[in-house]
Amino acid sequence: MYDYLIAGAGLFGAVCARELTDLGKRVLVVEKRPHIGGNVYTENVEGINVHKYGAHIFHTNNKAVWDYVCRFAEFNRFTNSPIANYKGELYSLPFNMYTFNKMWGVTTPEQAAAKIDEQRREITGEPKNLEEQAISLVGRDIYERLIKGYTEKQWGRECSRLPAFIIKRLPVRLTFDNNYFDALYQGIPIGGYTRLISKMLEGIEVHLDTDYLADKASLDRLADRVIYTGAIDEYFAYSLGRLEYRTVRFDTKLLDIPSFQGNAVVNFTDKQTPFTRIIEHKWFEFGRDENGSDIPKTVISYEYSKEYEKGDERFYPVNDEKNNSLYQRYRELAKGEKNVIFGGRLGQYKYFDMDHVIMSALECIAKEKKEWT
Ligand code: UDP
Repeated sequence: MYDYLIAGAGLFGAVCARELTDLGKRVLVVEKRPHIGGNVYTENVEGINVHKYGAHIFHTNNKAVWDYVCRFAEFNRFTNSPIANYKGELYSLPFNMYTFNKMWGVTTPEQAAAKIDEQRREITGEPKNLEEQAISLVGRDIYERLIKGYTEKQWGRECSRLPAFIIKRLPVRLTFDNNYFDALYQGIPIGGYTRLISKMLEGIEVHLDTDYLADKASLDRLADRVIYTGAIDEYFAYSLGRLEYRTVRFDTKLLDIPSFQGNAVVNFTDKQTPFTRIIEHKWFEFGRDENGSDIPKTVISYEYSKEYEKGDERFYPVNDEKNNSLYQRYRELAKGEKNVIFGGRLGQYKYFDMDHVIMSALECIAKEKKEWT
């Protein structure tokens, strides 16, 4: 008998498992895939930690969360500075003085601000969608070249039909600073994310290749409470309808050359190029293996974004009004499941970053703890 059954060995599940175990609870983790780590899973190929489900760059402003992850891995000093390739022209990301210089030839913050001000005037009132939000942040030129094509490929929907908050993830700066994230702490775990998660799960029973929903009745009998990190609509057998997700198909190649693109992330921001970005995994670790030797080969992944269909892995919830209101109805159903906690990107249908997943898992366990006393 266990106190908690955790369905899913991703970041949310692993943090909950660690915390509960450290609080003296008996925990069983079941995972339907043949590996731990969920979508942060990495696999070592020729000395390179390949991010099998897309690039994950840890970043946070929360010192407690940073201290927490550093218990399980040492982090390198990687700073994400993606390049945008628009029809062969390269621009710096996020939107900063290097970007504005390349776009308009401006050289001072004052000139850049004037240019943006002039272009954002077309938006009056509160931005109602991603298109209006983007133009009001950086003007139409940047929207047309660096945002529109990329966003419509990634989400498969027009920018005018997407929520504004998605574009607010990216900083806009009037300084020469290519750091993609506004975060005090940032890095990649040395040895890869799989090692980090495995450290988190040390001493905890994990059953791989075990699909919780396929065997729900008998697994439920093993524990008092369940933490479910899978898709909430699937849990309820889609009884209210299907939530929409985006998935990513990766075309990964091992190349016998030392460098393909000279950067970890290059975004292709035009609409015609069918993939959204190319990840060159070795640059997350400066092109060196764990012994500090230069790696002679390279692994790259082309990312093709598409609508989730049965059998795919879910990557991004589509948090537009239609899906959010359906999710709210599932939330109501979830309240009736007294012994089940729904967590993580899929359980809470939320475009979480890793640090928010950790915060939310820690809060979830703190709440549980209150119930015990
Ligand atoms: N985005 C964009 N152009 C880029 C990169 C990002 O327009 O070159 C927009 C796009 O709408 C995307 C959002 O910014 O969905 C958030 O990007 P982020 O890099 O945070 O996405 P993730 O890494 O989670 O895929």
